[in-house]
Amino acid sequence: MVLKNTDQSPSWTVENSSELYGLDRWGKGYFCINEKGNIAVSPKGSSSKAHDLMQLLNELESRKLKFPLLIRFDDILEECLIDLHKAFKNAINNYEYQGKYQGVFPIKCNQQRHVVEELVTCGAQWHFGLEAGSKAELLIALSILEDPKALLICNGYKDQRYIETAILARKLGRQPVVVIEQASDIELIIKSSILIGASPLIGIRAKLSSQSSGRWSDSIGDKSKFGLTIPEILTTIKKLKKANLLNELKLLHFHLGSQINDIGILKDALQEAGQIYVELINLGAPMGYLDVGGGLGIDYDGSQTASTASTNYSLQNYANDVVATIKECCESNKIQVPTLITESGRAVASHFSILVFNILGKNSLPSDIPRKEEKECLSVKNLRETLGHINNLENEEKQDLAKLQEAWNDALKFKADALAAFRLGYVDLIERAKAEQLTWACAKKIVNQLPKDILLPEELKKLSESLAGTYYANLSVFRSAPDTWAIDQVFPIMPIHRLNEEPNQLGHFADLTCDSDGKLDQFIDNGKVKNLLALHEFKPDDKYLIGLFLGGAYQEVMGNLHNLFGSTNAVHIRLTNKGKYKVEHVIRGNTKSDVLEYLEHDPEHLLERLRISSESAIQAGHLKIHDAQKLMEHVETSLRQSTYLQD
Ligand SMILES: *Cc1c(COP(=O)(O)O)cnc(C)c1O
Repeated sequence: MVLKNTDQSPSWTVENSSELYGLDRWGKGYFCINEKGNIAVSPKGSSSKAHDLMQLLNELESRKLKFPLLIRFDDILEECLIDLHKAFKNAINNYEYQGKYQGVFPIKCNQQRHVVEELVTCGAQWHFGLEAGSKAELLIALSILEDPKALLICNGYKDQRYIETAILARKLGRQPVVVIEQASDIELIIKSSILIGASPLIGIRAKLSSQSSGRWSDSIGDKSKFGLTIPEILTTIKKLKKANLLNELKLLHFHLGSQINDIGILKDALQEAGQIYVELINLGAPMGYLDVGGGLGIDYDGSQTASTASTNYSLQNYANDVVATIKECCESNKIQVPTLITESGRAVASHFSILVFNILGKNSLPSDIPRKEEKECLSVKNLRETLGHINNLENEEKQDLAKLQEAWNDALKFKADALAAFRLGYVDLIERAKAEQLTWACAKKIVNQLPKDILLPEELKKLSESLAGTYYANLSVFRSAPDTWAIDQVFPIMPIHRLNEEPNQLGHFADLTCDSDGKLDQFIDNGKVKNLLALHEFKPDDKYLIGLFLGGAYQEVMGNLHNLFGSTNAVHIRLTNKGKYKVEHVIRGNTKSDVLEYLEHDPEHLLERLRISSESAIQAGHLKIHDAQKLMEHVETSLRQSTYLQD
């Protein structure tokens, strides 16, 4: 006997889901939906074998890896790195550029050891290097990057020890380039070079006048923290010359800020930087490298527009513009073209991780129809009548918006009547509850009848929003998706299963923190942002899993311990061609003990104090020994466990 799956609306297909969530527009072929209605992951893009994500998650769960779970697909990370190099290779071939491309990864984008190691290993064939923005990041780079041909770009605030470390690393056979980002850096470089009797490779970061339009536009221009103005550059050159260090000046650097959404801005900046590069050569510096910084953007919503969640250019456009502009500039000045460097973080590290969280529950307005009783107050009777009227409208051939609107106005009026009667003491709590339930039942009926394809009047649109449910997510956005809170960044978010079933609910997410900002209520909408996401009916006994995609850059490393929710469990997965996978690394999330210790609370001390308290309560006869034991056990287990909810 074939049981009919009643959840499955026959007309809804996985293609509908794909379109609804824009999967093909932002997934770059890495993600698709399989015939079971699950997200499938293709490590090498759409032509490679797709792996069922739900199956993978089930198996991870049986290894006691609980949600929320961060899954890193190292194959995708590698593929993004390959794509970056392919794009530059194409551009170099097409424009017959007589130089090469040699990128670096900005460590701040994702400092996880396995991630940095993976990039260095995969990038070895191109001598892919690293960019450090602080002393701690320099230490990471020194320990992981051993290739003598790879570059180690040293940015950020520097003290003497930072610079001396870089000089010594050069003696070790590495290629650190100390970038002068502030006028005072030069004095430290001279001092350290004299002290050690050797010098570092030197770069200069220029403050360009070209303005970026993106969210990070303040990182350039006169307001920026870093970079030298043109007069400062000239003074620096003089000082380098005087200290006999001009020969070590090899690199010009600029950084337009992250997520450049408009390619026009990049072109202006490239022209300006190209000219400065030429001038530096004319002033006697050997040069050889032009570092165009980060900023290569990600099309989070797949709209291909210059909006903040998108870019109006492709990776290939970007590489073409860098190569062509610099070539033109050097050619017309008859100088040799430089080796081109990018510090692309976001573009390399966004796609490879998926944050999967489970839904713990759902709250929505009570709209069950209360049982009819003989004696009911007038407003409840009126509301029942209105509901009946709306039900009749459903049977009409064409939905009449004006009639629906009128019915809703009636319902609101009767609800207000019930409220007024309650205030005056004519109606009891039970009747008032009925009036509310019936009002929301009317609302639900109306929303179900609203045509989907036309622009709705504002009031009716709001009505469907107010009916939306809150899905409770086992997650802290402050820990795992801080940019959604801090800068209203939108990421693609969607269920990772049940995608052959029509998502007929509208909802948003509330996280576990007690903060009213702890929510996800901004979703991609093809160039715009919407506040509600189509989701499935939540069934308390079934798992409902949601994925937050493209969050591999910045999110995990910038998250904080709001309400003491710590890091989530994370796994690194390698996929094989035969449809199998291998769990390469498991990184257990913080336990409650970890986060308490981080804030100087001593778990042992905490337990001891509780023990003493229980002892007195036992003496006083308030607590049984058995219960005291149970309390201590709960606390001890809890300290060892993750900070998230577990079943
Ligand atoms: C942040 C930063 C980057 C990385 O930028 P993305 O937009 O992630 O590519 C590169 N270089 C510098 C100097 C940075 O500050």
